Amino acid sequence: MVRMEAVTRHYRVGGQVIKALDGVNFEIPAGQFTAIVGPSGSGKSTLLNMLGCLDRPDSGRYYLEDQDVSAFDDERASDFRNRRIGFVFQSFHLLPRLNVLENVLLPRRFLRGPDDGLEARALQLLERMGLSRHLAHRPNQLSGGQMQRVAIARALLMQPALLLADEPTGNLDSRSAADVLALIEEVHAAGQTVVLVTHDTDVAARAQRQLGIRDGSLEFDTAH
Ligand code: ADP
Ligand code: MG
Repeated sequence: MVRMEAVTRHYRVGGQVIKALDGVNFEIPAGQFTAIVGPSGSGKSTLLNMLGCLDRPDSGRYYLEDQDVSAFDDERASDFRNRRIGFVFQSFHLLPRLNVLENVLLPRRFLRGPDDGLEARALQLLERMGLSRHLAHRPNQLSGGQMQRVAIARALLMQPALLLADEPTGNLDSRSAADVLALIEEVHAAGQTVVLVTHDTDVAARAQRQLGIRDGSLEFDTAH
C-alpha cells in the first residue's frame, strides 16, 4: 500500500540545513496498524505529512496504492489527498462555525464529481461514533473525546486508503484517550490501514508494528 524509497526532506532555516527526513525506506502493507515513534523533533510529523501528501520529498520516491504520488503536482496531490487520505490531529481541526454533521461532510465540498451517498455514510459513521444525538452541535459544545470522534468520522468519510493520526490522544484526558484509541483499533479491525504518530509508549504498543525515528532516520522497525 505504502512504499517510501530514500525519502529526504530538508529545511533551510537561516544558513542552516535541518534534515527532517534523511533517506527513509519502508513499506506498509494494506490493513496494517503502524505506530511511528520517536523523540520530539525527530521527524515524525514531517513523515506523516509526507504520507498524507501534504508535503513532497526533496529526493526519493513515495508510492501510495502503486502510484508515484511524489511526482503529483499540487492540484493532483490535493485531489488525491481528499479522496484517499483521512487525517486526525491532536487538536481536532474541526471548523467552529460548522455543526457536527457539516464537519464530517467537509470533504464533500472539495469533491469533483458525484457525491455517492456521502450524507448517509456520514450519519452512519456518527452513529458508530456514538454521536447521533449531537449532529446539530457545534464543536465548542462537545467534550475533547467527542470532538476527536467527529474528526475520526470525518477522516473516514471518503473510505480512505490510509487513516493518519498525529498524536490523536495528546489533548485528551486518560478516559477519552482510551475511548479514542479503542475506536481506532475497531476501525483497524474492520480493515482500515492506520498510521499513528505518538510519543506515548503505551499507545504505540497497541499497534501491530512500530517504526522508530530519530534525527530524520529510521532507528528501528519492529517488523524486521
Ligand atoms: P516531530 O514531529 O518528531 O516532533 P517534526 O517532523 O515536526 O518532528 O520536525 C523535524 C525537524 O524538522 C525538527 O528539527 C523541526 O524543527 C524541523 N522542522 C519541521 N518543520 C519545519 C519547517 N516548516 N521549517 C523548518 N524546520 C522545520
Ligand atoms: Mg510532531
